[in-house]
Amino acid sequence: MPDAKPALTILLAGPRGFCAGVDRAIKIVEEALRRFGAPVYVRHEIVHNRFVVETLRAQGAVFVEELEEVPDDRPVVFSAHGVPKSVPAEAQRREMIYLDATCPLVSKVHRGAERSHAQGKHLILIGHAGHPEVIGTMGQLPPGSVTLVEDVAQAESVQPPEGVPLAFTTQTTLSVDDTAEIVSVLRRRFPDMAVPAKEDICYATTNRQAAVKEVASRAELTIVVGAPNSSNSVRLREVAARAGCPRALMVQRGAEIDPSIADGLSTIAVTAGASAPEVLVEEVVARFRDRFTVTVETVTVAEEHVVFKLPPALQAAQ
Ligand code: SF4
Repeated sequence: MPDAKPALTILLAGPRGFCAGVDRAIKIVEEALRRFGAPVYVRHEIVHNRFVVETLRAQGAVFVEELEEVPDDRPVVFSAHGVPKSVPAEAQRREMIYLDATCPLVSKVHRGAERSHAQGKHLILIGHAGHPEVIGTMGQLPPGSVTLVEDVAQAESVQPPEGVPLAFTTQTTLSVDDTAEIVSVLRRRFPDMAVPAKEDICYATTNRQAAVKEVASRAELTIVVGAPNSSNSVRLREVAARAGCPRALMVQRGAEIDPSIADGLSTIAVTAGASAPEVLVEEVVARFRDRFTVTVETVTVAEEHVVFKLPPALQAAQ
């Protein structure tokens, strides 16, 4: 009889993985391919996940960074992160067919930014410089109308234009705890600053962070399935570490894991960023099954039933 494999409990965070905005964005590309045939161009990675991008590329999607790389006569999809206003304006000028896969929750932030601007307010945007969502949100308003604040230190030192009322908004995928700290500094310094009616950090980010906190606090190792350029995935790793888990790693595929990493451990936690499909979580669990007798326990902190409709042009095609 071969030696029995050691036991390992894997706590799966619930919810994890795909959110409604990612699901919709991928469906928009798939539906565009079905309706228009290949190639369909996609401006920026549709969602920040290499597996998703490669799967769509194999079906005929062509990923580019700028609209100028797209021929006039092929459809183009804008990614879930949103785009500056100049992008659809240019597509219209060139009479292109374009489909906007911006998550409706990002679009909501855009509309809020426009409202604040129309009320004569200067906008403080809490987010990460260079992230496409931040570029898209800043690009809803004329240059100079938005000041970006990335952290508590910048919240302490930022000098918005004097004598102009202020409002703030946030990137949708930030750390809930870090953002609360930044907001409290801004509100102390600018007590009259307008506060959004509802939190801009989205339900999916909030729920995934709450879930990883729960499992990471009970685990000796946390693995986040996600991509280094995925903001919400990076935040999950940080939240796991802060929840007291001795080690928190990010992987893109199961093959990156040497299962001996769990030797001597009894409990590990696994979660996935909002752009990572469940099949990649299954890959990770399978890697550990090679070496351990695995018991999987799902720890669910919130149920999600959010579904976003496709744009009207594609609904009609279904
Ligand atoms: S993480 Fe949130 S804002 Fe981003 S696509 Fe998903 S639901 Fe939309």
